[in-house]
Amino acid sequence: MISVEEARARILEHFAALEPVETPLLEAAGQVLAADVRGGFDIPPLPNTSMDGYAVRADDTAGATPASPLRLRVTGYLPAGSVYDGSVGPGEAVRIMTGAPIPDGADAIVPFEETDEEEQTARWEDGPRDDVRIDVEAKLGANIRPAGEDVRAGELVLPAGTILGPAQIGVLASLGLGTVQAIRRPRVAILSTGDELLRPGEPLRPGAIYDSNGFSLASMAREMGAEPRVLDIAGDTVEALTARVHEGLADADLLVTSAGVSRGDFDVVKEVLAREGSVGFWTVRMRPGKPLAFGTFQAGGEASDGEARRVVPHLGLPGNPVSAMMTFELFGRPAVFTMLGKPQAWERERVRAVSAERIARPDDRRFYARAIVERRDGRYHAKLTGPQGSGVLTSMALANGIVVVPEDGGPVEPGDECDVMLIGRVPDAEA
Ligand code: AMP
Ligand code: MG
Repeated sequence: MISVEEARARILEHFAALEPVETPLLEAAGQVLAADVRGGFDIPPLPNTSMDGYAVRADDTAGATPASPLRLRVTGYLPAGSVYDGSVGPGEAVRIMTGAPIPDGADAIVPFEETDEEEQTARWEDGPRDDVRIDVEAKLGANIRPAGEDVRAGELVLPAGTILGPAQIGVLASLGLGTVQAIRRPRVAILSTGDELLRPGEPLRPGAIYDSNGFSLASMAREMGAEPRVLDIAGDTVEALTARVHEGLADADLLVTSAGVSRGDFDVVKEVLAREGSVGFWTVRMRPGKPLAFGTFQAGGEASDGEARRVVPHLGLPGNPVSAMMTFELFGRPAVFTMLGKPQAWERERVRAVSAERIARPDDRRFYARAIVERRDGRYHAKLTGPQGSGVLTSMALANGIVVVPEDGGPVEPGDECDVMLIGRVPDAEA
């Protein structure tokens, strides 16, 4: 038996960040920036107003108060998106909308709220007004956003390696970029194997079950940021399996199969894997999910067309639905994140939680128990989802945490603190 950590280390030796591709901005969410991005110009490009108001010379407003306001002549109007082609002279004001560049001559903006703008009955669009009442003295530079306040031309804005979230994507858009160099998403081919499997939507027949692994694993892959490709179910024949494996290898960066790798298994998966690639069968010291296969395939056959043959890693997961998800979480997730160029980001948040019940390892393997975690009185509390069999997939559906009971310790007793890996949002329970 090998530990979870050793299995993961052996697997990760076969993965590295994929190559960058030019990616439309919106599709790059969650991906990693492959090259430094610098500002090509100041943002904002020109000093502009942060308020709807009147562009004035601050000196002209000296001494204005609500009790003794003064009046300025309105000489123009400037909506956002234009540049004023005149200038603001002494005693003058230009009506200006948020975001518009400050006209020459002006050095302060008096917001509408500090004028008689709100008292006007005629709409501006129906005819400009002759003058405006100024109720408050404007300070020099008031309500003016300087050029380059956000980004300076030439400045390093986002370094290579940045994970692109909504704010980073917004920043790239503000720089005028329509596409970005980002590490590409890995393509993960997912293959369910077994004569007993039916496609959801097909009528149930005696002895058969629906393929759930194909769906849970593809959903996980998508959530991780990969592009899943679900292959057609392969029955337990060498021919079917060989055909599917080759189909999966065509353009995949990782081939994931489920089922058929247990010891003494009648399935032909092991035979096909061993024949088509190099594969190791490991017994990992974890429950659920002990049998695990990992190997590599040479994709592209004999490569007679001169194209380089690709080595495609293969992760062979156990068939039981909870085992398949847990092993994909513990081994597939780090692999996908490594290919995405963010190898530090795969790990889940770990917290200590008070256990509501006794949780004992069924054997000498590390036990990953599905739990419902909540926060109460400033602490995390965990209780099991119910039966913990590796076929009880609803236990995964209920869980927002996985209690990890180490292989080298005693059971968790009620009230004990235990180690929890968070896989979902933790609600705050009412006190
Ligand atoms: P195996 O690894 O082939 O011995 O399968 C272990 C258990 O997982 C058996 O009960 C299978 O029926 C079940 N199983 C295998 N593949 C799937 C799948 N794709 N979806 C749901 N259950 C599966
Ligand atoms: Mg089977």
